[in-house]
Amino acid sequence: LASRAFHPDNTTVKVGDHIIGGSEPTIMAGPCSVESQDGLLEIARAVKASGAQMLRGGAFKPRSSPYSFQGLGEEGLKYLAAAREETGLAIVSEIMEPGLVDMITSYVDVLQIGARNMQNFALLKAVGKTQTPVLLKRGFANSIEEWLMSAEYIMSEGNPNVILCERGIRTFETYTRNTLDLNAVPVVQHLSHLPVLVDPSHGIGYARYVTTMARAGIAAGAAGVIVEVHPKPEEAWSDGGQTLTLDQFSDMAEQVRQTFELV
Ligand code: PEP
Ligand code: MN
Repeated sequence: LASRAFHPDNTTVKVGDHIIGGSEPTIMAGPCSVESQDGLLEIARAVKASGAQMLRGGAFKPRSSPYSFQGLGEEGLKYLAAAREETGLAIVSEIMEPGLVDMITSYVDVLQIGARNMQNFALLKAVGKTQTPVLLKRGFANSIEEWLMSAEYIMSEGNPNVILCERGIRTFETYTRNTLDLNAVPVVQHLSHLPVLVDPSHGIGYARYVTTMARAGIAAGAAGVIVEVHPKPEEAWSDGGQTLTLDQFSDMAEQVRQTFELV
């Protein structure tokens, strides 16, 4: 179902009145973790003013250590929904457990499947039983074939609204957190009709390089980007080192739009 052989034309995914894979680049932006209602509203207003269509923010966080902050849970989803109410931004947030599908879909516009859960097949099947758009991140140790098969798990349950997201893979390189696999963008577009975004924040892992890689992802053909933004990245509860300030984000969004026009 994800294959271009089955569906020759590009698929677009509608979220609110924005079309992912349409004539303007999709920009999803926000904090790695939802922290507070006021802080989230400040970010939401700023990214909206800079042209983002969607607000990202983790309420359930897949942290490497069980002792790290695990997210605010449903409380965080309430803050996200309030930010949508005020700004009109669509909401993107991660789901980690099949049992939480009904609860989380009642707050969000796009369900994010994180890299660590790309092959959580019970979770893929559960989100496949909804019609809510799913942002399917590539696992950091998964092949393109495995990634597309995970899309297949969702689509075969009846949900055609899958958006792929390249978020970097593990390589031997140590100067970057991951290696954003730009190769994957044209390859996936050849193999599949689904829209593909890039996540340069996790993809490279350092704020100073994020704008360059956002541009590179768009130049490679991505339909848009998802990036981490915080007013004070050094104080962010997670992923501060790769998080853009509000001003850096505004500049990045402009560069993404300019690059998109050239592709
Ligand atoms: C995130 O978006 O904050 C996240 C945890 O992403 P990934 O699953 O790509 O690591
Ligand atoms: Mn993060």
